Amino acid sequence: MSAIKTVLQALLLMGALLASQRAVYAFPLSNGDQVQCEFSHSGKTGVATEIWNSYRKPEDRNPELGRAVAVMRLDASGWPTIIIDAEAHKRNAKGAPAIWDFVYFHECAHAQDPSLGEIGANCVAYKEMDRRGLMNFHRMKELEAVHLSMLMLPEEYGGSGLKFWHKTLECVRQGDK
Ligand SMILES: [Zn+2]
Repeated sequence: MSAIKTVLQALLLMGALLASQRAVYAFPLSNGDQVQCEFSHSGKTGVATEIWNSYRKPEDRNPELGRAVAVMRLDASGWPTIIIDAEAHKRNAKGAPAIWDFVYFHECAHAQDPSLGEIGANCVAYKEMDRRGLMNFHRMKELEAVHLSMLMLPEEYGGSGLKFWHKTLECVRQGDK
């Protein structure tokens, strides 16, 4: 009887651990910090869900990602969810640390304010990296290069990578005043 009870208690404990682990989402920044994307809007407060999309074949990739390495979507209940291309992260998080820090803060900005536009999300990401000491000249140039490599972009991104980046910096500078 007590053996069964012990087994049951162990199972319950495991269940509780699994449940609590599932509820904890965090993103590893390039400086080793683990960050959570906390939000509060539309009557909901909490941490944005993270979905790390792993796949073997390109066709199994989450279609929501499109050409991006991460996107933010509201789930059916309106809860912000950040979908991350886990394969792309595995491939180049070490080689392009500033990019991934920036991508995460950009998507988190959308999660924190779903009405925020693309330039606004970039602006928040830039400032957040700066605030955390994750920005320096080299990193800024790394981010600039990635933006400039995107030639044509939809209008909400300024129309081109060059404009997207310039409008981002414009917004960052306005914040300094
Ligand atoms: Zn965006």
